[in-house]
Amino acid sequence: MLGFSKGNVENTRRALIAWDRLCCPRVAGGLHLLDIGTWNKAAMCKLLWNLCKKKDKLWVQWVHVYYKKYNPGWGNEPKQASWVIQKIFKAKKYFTKTGYTEDDVLRMNTFSIKDVYLKNRGEFRYLAAHRRLQTRDRLKRWGYVEDDSCTLCNAKAETMNHLFFVFPFSKRIWAAILRWLQIDRPVMDWEHELQWVEQYCRGRSATAEIYRMMLVGSLYYIWQERNARIFQEVQRTVKTITRSLAQDIHCRGNVKKCLKRKLIELNSYPTV
Ligand SMILES: [Zn+2]
Repeated sequence: MLGFSKGNVENTRRALIAWDRLCCPRVAGGLHLLDIGTWNKAAMCKLLWNLCKKKDKLWVQWVHVYYKKYNPGWGNEPKQASWVIQKIFKAKKYFTKTGYTEDDVLRMNTFSIKDVYLKNRGEFRYLAAHRRLQTRDRLKRWGYVEDDSCTLCNAKAETMNHLFFVFPFSKRIWAAILRWLQIDRPVMDWEHELQWVEQYCRGRSATAEIYRMMLVGSLYYIWQERNARIFQEVQRTVKTITRSLAQDIHCRGNVKKCLKRKLIELNSYPTV
């Protein structure tokens, strides 16, 4: 499902970005592309949710009467049932995979296919937007760790704000990106960065869109970097990361006509 990008070098002034990556990484890459298979599973979950909640619908009542002994909802699928009914019963598996229990499903008063879809794909952006990344301050709150200090610098508590915007390494990445996009302002904290996007990057302009892609992309890279340092004990430099980010943006943006002109302006690596 990821977009492929061919080098469009003829009309660029300087071809400093190497087009050596055929396939966009997931990073900012696939974020807007719909994964139909996963979407369908989320849609089946909605049908099962209807069954579990005993919604006042004719088909729901019918299934409850007809398949009573199979406990429609969280029960095992009846082998004799039609293909559709079996599919709906099987959605239990998707719910479980996404991390929902029967109780969770029963507690849901509304059902959003999109939410379940995003959760199922483990979308980074979804996690970040809902502040669900397992930073150490959250782990401590849940009692999984006793010490919430940041593993990278051992200084402050590892909150999302610290990790993404205060931690000097992340701050340098942000500063490089802002320079690259010719935005003249200092790096701010989590709250203010989000406010800034809301205020200045709402629209569909190329500049706004590229900024949002950079925001999601850099959060993702910083999160990857943190995990690589903690679990694999490997480190990348600010230069490597900002270069990869720039390549990803070109890779992904190049398939969108409206971004091409802006990307030509950005055809050099960020300076660090
Ligand atoms: Zn730190």
